[in-house]
Order: sequence, then structure tokens, then C-alpha cells
Amino acid sequence: MAPDFDRLRDDFPILKIAVHGKPFVYLDSAATSQKPNKVIDAISEFYRAYNANINRGVYEISEKSTEAYIESKSKVARLINAKGMEEVVYVRNTTEAINLVSLSWGEKNIGRGDHILITEMEHHSNMVPWQILAKKKGAVLDYVALDADKTKLDIESLKSNLEKKPKIVSVTHVSNVLGTVNDVAYITKLAHENGAVVLVDGAQSAPHMKVDVKAIGCDFFAFSGHKMLAPTGIGTLYGKAELLDQMQPIFGGGDMIKTVEKQSATWNDLPWKFEAGTSNIEGGIAFGVAVDYLEGIGMENIDDHEKELTSYALEKLSSINDVAVFGPGRDEIGIKTGLISFAIKGVHPHDIASIFDSEGVAIRAGHHCAMPLVVTLAPEKAVSRMSFYLYNNMADIDRAVQAIERVRKIFKRK
Ligand code: PLP
Repeated sequence: MAPDFDRLRDDFPILKIAVHGKPFVYLDSAATSQKPNKVIDAISEFYRAYNANINRGVYEISEKSTEAYIESKSKVARLINAKGMEEVVYVRNTTEAINLVSLSWGEKNIGRGDHILITEMEHHSNMVPWQILAKKKGAVLDYVALDADKTKLDIESLKSNLEKKPKIVSVTHVSNVLGTVNDVAYITKLAHENGAVVLVDGAQSAPHMKVDVKAIGCDFFAFSGHKMLAPTGIGTLYGKAELLDQMQPIFGGGDMIKTVEKQSATWNDLPWKFEAGTSNIEGGIAFGVAVDYLEGIGMENIDDHEKELTSYALEKLSSINDVAVFGPGRDEIGIKTGLISFAIKGVHPHDIASIFDSEGVAIRAGHHCAMPLVVTLAPEKAVSRMSFYLYNNMADIDRAVQAIERVRKIFKRK
């Protein structure tokens, strides 16, 4: 049976607030998602009923918190079809996951003159760590270009860059500005044929679609819990066990060791080797609850729902004068997720977002942490973006359209 998306809105208490005296519409889930009661309650229950450190205590509530934390990793492993929880390293977010790879795998494997390949549609999180590594090691950072429409990656550019035999290809699954879904399985296949290791930035895909790391074939996959109903401060680095095994930890301390002597130490098993110190325990446990919630609805159903909303929004926007939309259009809805960056001619994106706010509608405006891409899209070096999730509906999009009409009226657009 298809899920009742309208009913599940009741699970998200924040959707009932008023902003500037108007019912709140949240269209900024690409920045962070709202949280259902089950997740909020799981955090509260942890502190009320079994708050204790994990992997240490021999008393009942410590065993319970350890069990819940480990179980959440198993749920995340199942969600993305990893081999098991040993391949699920908990980190703070996607940014930390990518930095972990650049600092550990990169430190060992990248040398002077080596090539690192990323793309022109990356978030700064998948750009700056590689810039730092390239500078440190004297390596070369190359970029896959966008196609002429600036909606997709240019596959010829990918192929010619692969001829330089990069050591690593690090690519986003979904652009947080364009909404483009990259064919990461195909990119991984080509990269592997050329001897590269592949990291996929899944920050904008894992929350919205079925992800199967085995089917993609990538070596690493990074994503953030807070964009998929979990709290902030918890995210995942998936890595193939054989690669994680060869990597050195980047943080030393408690929990990540097996034995410690005065001058040396040996490392714990995966994934604990990469999790030094006390973890974000309640965040990890709540991440598992968020995964249960998402799976209860079904990732394919969420994907379909967002496609319907996106298609509806694109149709509405196409009929408004002076509105330009970036990224794939309705004819390419199969490779677009639920986010739409747009511009209104002659109006600064920050003014657009402020007027939306006065109408009770939250959207984002700016460079979206993808400056090199956004400067090529708009002279203001900024765009406005509305992004959808499972709790949005057509009425939310109608409110966004009304807010656009208000912008046009204020700026006297014809
Ligand atoms: N990668 C992409 C594509 C993103 O959209 C984001 C955040 O918006 C990130 C990485 C960074 O995520 P976080 O801030 O959770 O580390």
C-alpha cells in the first residue's frame, strides 16, 4: 500500500508552528531535515532511561546503550547494503567523512605529481579537503567539467581526465545546487578500469533514494544523519572493509585501541579504529530510529513522492515570467531529486529568501557551499533554492508560488 504522505506530516511537530503569523512551510531540507517525534523521543528516552557510555560498562544500562548504538550501525549498514556494521564508521557528518579519507587514505596514497579528480558540481566539503591534500603533497587537483547546459557532468571530460590516471575520483551522487543525479555506478566502473579509488558524496542522495553501495561499486560513501531525519552531529563514512583495514586512524585515544604500551599502541577492530573518544551516542541511536522511520515508508516511495513534487513545482515555475530554473528540467525528472535552484530576473536571491520568510516559507539563498559552480550560474554569485522531503506536499509548493508572486509584485516585475 502506498504510504499516506499527508498523514505523516503529523509526525513532525515543527510543521505546526507559525512564522510571521503564517503557517510554516519548510523548503530547506537539503540544508537539514526536520525530525519526527520518534527521533526526538529516542533522544529524550536515552537521557531519561539509559544514559551511559558505550563499549565499557558492565552494568545494565551501559550494555543497553552499547547494544542500541551497535544496532543503529547495523541498520545503517542494511540501508545502504554494506557488508555489515564493520563498514560503517560513525563521524559527525559528510564533511568529516570526506576529510577522514583525505587525511588517512590520501596521506598514504597520494604523492607528488599524482592526480586527484573531482567535479565542477562539488560541495566545498568534497573540494577543500582535496585542495588541502593536493597542496600538502604537491599533487594535481583536476575537475570534470559540466556539459554546455550546466546541468550534468560532461562524460567526455570525465574520460579525458581519467586518462591522467588519477589515484582517486571523488564525486557527488547528487548536486546540492542542480539536483542532478550522477550515474555513480558508471563513473565508478570507468574510474576502477583506470585504477582509481572512488569516493561518492551521498549527502544529497542517501536521504532521498535507495542507495546500494555494492551495486554502485564505490570504495567510500559519505553521508550525514541530519539530512535524513536524525540529529546533527552524526554521519557515516562507509568504506570497503579491505580498504578501511589498510588505513591508519586520524585520531588517537580511548576506544580506538586494542593495546597501549608506553611508546606504541595497536588498533581496535573496524569500525572502532576510527572512532576515538566518547561517541555521539544519542545521535547514533537516534540515527537508527530515523533509518527505521525512512524504511517504514520505503526509500523508493520517498523518491517517487519527491519526483511528483518536483515535477509539479517545475511546471508551476515554468509558467511564471522572469523565473529561471537551474539543473535538469521536467523532461529529465529521472535524473533530478527534489531540489530546485532558481532566480528571478533583477531580484537578489537574498531578497527573494527574505520575502519568502515574511510569507512563512523557509528557503535558502546564497552560494550553497558550491562557489565555483554558483558563480558560473548567476551574476549575483548566488541562487535561491527550494528543497523538498517526505513531509512536503503540493500545498507547500503553492505557497512557494504565492511567495514568488509576492516578490514579483514588490519588485514590480511584469
Ligand atoms: N555534500 C553535499 C552534496 C552537501 O549538500 C552537503 C551539505 O549540504 C555536504 C556535502 C556537507 O554536509 P555536512 O555539512 O552535513 O557535512
